[in-house]
Amino acid sequence: MDEPAELSNIRVVVRVRPAQDKTKTEAVTCGDQLEVDCGDGKRFTGAFADILGPAATQNDVYRKVEDVVLQTTEGINACVMAYGQTGAGKTHTMLGDNDGIIPKALNALFDKLGSDEPPTPVAQTPAPRAAKVSVSLLQILGEKLEDLLSPSSEIPLRVRLASRVTDELYVSGLSSIVVDDAEAALKVVNRGLKGRRERSTKRNDASSRSHAVLRVDIEKTDDVEVVKSRLYLVDLAGSERASALEDDAEGSPSKMYNPSETQRFKEHVDINRSLSALGNVVSALSDGPTKRPHVPYRDSTLTRLLQDSLGGNTRTAIVACCVEINQCVACCAPESIYADESVSTLKFADRAQRV
Ligand code: ADP
Ligand code: MG
Repeated sequence: MDEPAELSNIRVVVRVRPAQDKTKTEAVTCGDQLEVDCGDGKRFTGAFADILGPAATQNDVYRKVEDVVLQTTEGINACVMAYGQTGAGKTHTMLGDNDGIIPKALNALFDKLGSDEPPTPVAQTPAPRAAKVSVSLLQILGEKLEDLLSPSSEIPLRVRLASRVTDELYVSGLSSIVVDDAEAALKVVNRGLKGRRERSTKRNDASSRSHAVLRVDIEKTDDVEVVKSRLYLVDLAGSERASALEDDAEGSPSKMYNPSETQRFKEHVDINRSLSALGNVVSALSDGPTKRPHVPYRDSTLTRLLQDSLGGNTRTAIVACCVEINQCVACCAPESIYADESVSTLKFADRAQRV
């Protein structure tokens, strides 16, 4: 019999990045509430506990998620992800110029694990390792998992059930590298992401169409037991793909006969599926076990993969990235598309913050 999932605590942080063209007026207004001017008198207003405006620094963003990150040193699984349309600042938020959430989280994790370490007993050599940290890096492109630390590997990655009793999942074939400090961890991550960027250009910007997932596994050993926990740091695929699908569906039927269009359409479907599955999982977790006992993790590779860090005794933080758009009266078409995307990101964020 299934135990109902515990109510999960989801922290939602909305980040609005600065407009690139300062000469135009802004369509997203920050305050206690966020307002998006979609043109034609249409406005969206939403209240969020944590809104970071264009002046927010990388540090400001990291401080909002640090407690979620550091709980993994106490045996609690966690997931921090960036959601939003392409160009909204997800990669900047997660990685940045090595000043984003990923590098800061890795540094803080190792600092915390180091300071938690018991003093080395004099008579014992070598000293017992207090914590083992390993990293894995993968991407999900069109529902398929790819190992970014071992890209040439021919073994297809699969999410498999490790135990029917605990519902524990594992990814078969995924490489995992033990790292001794934050610097070594970052080196591994940057190498994997560099390869991803290089291959991505050959595959027609596959990076905006795929989810990049960094998994950090922590094993803490004390006198009595080994405590394992897991942290996922996720740069999600551009959310505009999800709504672009709706536009495609209305598009010319002749598209269906063009193979590259068909491929792209399939990817739209997959991104749509994984982001809407994520939205459904997040809503189910927000509703709680009484109102919604079934959490639909199985609906996409993304949610299956993140399952052990999304429900139950875990913490989740979502940084919803949107663009401070320029509303240019004379040529508002592209900007109003951005506004619509910002609204859809804020709707996702709003859904996630409702408990
Ligand atoms: P995404 O990963 O969501 O597609 P990026 O993180 O690549 O978006 O951001 C798009 C561009 O905007 C990049 O050039 C990035 O450096 C810049 N940018 C994003 N967020 C900010 C910010 N908060 N401050 C300054 N520049 C930003
Ligand atoms: Mg990006």
